[in-house]
Amino acid sequence: MGDAMEDTLMIVKPDAVARGLVGQVIARFEEAGFEIVRMRMQEPDPDLIRRFYAEHEGKPHFPRLIAYMVSGPVCFVQLRREGAVARARGLVGATDPADAAPGTIRGDLGIDLPRNSVHASDCATAAAREIALVFDGAR
Ligand code: ADP
Ligand code: MG
Repeated sequence: MGDAMEDTLMIVKPDAVARGLVGQVIARFEEAGFEIVRMRMQEPDPDLIRRFYAEHEGKPHFPRLIAYMVSGPVCFVQLRREGAVARARGLVGATDPADAAPGTIRGDLGIDLPRNSVHASDCATAAAREIALVFDGAR
């Protein structure tokens, strides 16, 4: 038996959108067998971004992370496949592009922290919360 079907939330972050990498990032997920369920291009509402990253509030990098995430358009993508959460984290690679392996999205496209090109939910609970927040107007 394989992994259960699940959804995850991916974001093409402002540094990647600005460099014209939306298609390349999404193509990597499609080539890895992910289905696009919903997606939205948007200059994100700062309030949405602050709620999205609420667990980071109070950390030294929080203000920089929020300023970066609202610095330009992002592409929110709800993705589906078996084992989506873990597989997406594998495709994305380590948080710091300097530590991310070649072949991962952050390893190949990321610039630095916080400009690491993509977000992917870190667990199924986070994925459900993030999808509801981004696509279903949950607070
Ligand atoms: P991940 O995105 O891999 O789950 P975290 O949840 O730890 O990583 O951090 C969320 C985001 O905050 C990162 O993707 C990155 O954009 C930013 N970030 C993390 N650590 C730092 C840091 N030390 N300095 C600046 N930005 C950071
Ligand atoms: Mg995280």
